Amino acid sequence: MERTSGKPVFEIEGLTKVYGEGETRVQALRGVSFTVQQGEMVAITGPSGSGKSTLLAMLGAVDNPTDGRILLEGVDLASLSDERRTLIRRRRIGFVFQAFNLLPVLSAIENVSLPLELDGVSATEANRRAADALQLVEMLQRREHLPGMLSGGEQQRVAIARALAIEPAIVLADEPTGNLDSVNSQRVMQLLRRLVDEQQQTVILVTHDPVVAAMADRNLRMQDGQLQGGEAIEQAVQREAAAAISTQRA
Ligand code: ADP
Repeated sequence: MERTSGKPVFEIEGLTKVYGEGETRVQALRGVSFTVQQGEMVAITGPSGSGKSTLLAMLGAVDNPTDGRILLEGVDLASLSDERRTLIRRRRIGFVFQAFNLLPVLSAIENVSLPLELDGVSATEANRRAADALQLVEMLQRREHLPGMLSGGEQQRVAIARALAIEPAIVLADEPTGNLDSVNSQRVMQLLRRLVDEQQQTVILVTHDPVVAAMADRNLRMQDGQLQGGEAIEQAVQREAAAAISTQRA
């Protein structure tokens, strides 16, 4: 059964990232290519220093690649002005972090509605959408709680609601279970799984945890700035296809 809609959300081609120069030069990404379809959950795994965070920063339009292309919903991020890129980051990408990053002086629902209000959505509408998102993560009953009154797992569910409230094309999660015990980690992963299966949400997450990675539809394993295994083969095929096309065009 085809579960995904088959619509590409991310098309990544030949992504390269170099930090620094001379003696401090580090090539963090060495030609990474892959596609993520709507309604897919993809886990990025690999040892420390292999380029996972760098890749996520590129996908989130937080930093620019040195070379290569990132198409988000068919739009080349490099072709956009800084202003447009900021808008895409704010409206199409939901971020979830290991440390939850909730504002401690705001209630759960205020944390979720804030990004909407900052983006110009009226307070009433932002409140309604925040309540819907909290309902989705089963945290509506805690809407008035401050983050400090919630468990780690509950805080992460609020953070996921905040990411979802903008109705993003993609949720990018950096070690979303990194600060959670195994019970809460399972709960958060089951929530993400449900969003993917029932809402056709698309999720890319970075994780060290093999149990978490096993819950994704697909694993991309990074090693020394490159994808390993099946994806490396897929990349080679794509490179050959691209070479064949450019030969045809020439
Ligand atoms: P991972 O997330 O898999 O641990 P990173 O993407 O953080 O890997 O890092 C990949 C490589 O790039 C590492 O060698 C790291 O030291 C280097 N690196 C990451 N960020 C920077 C930066 N801002 N400046 C210089 N080097 C960096």
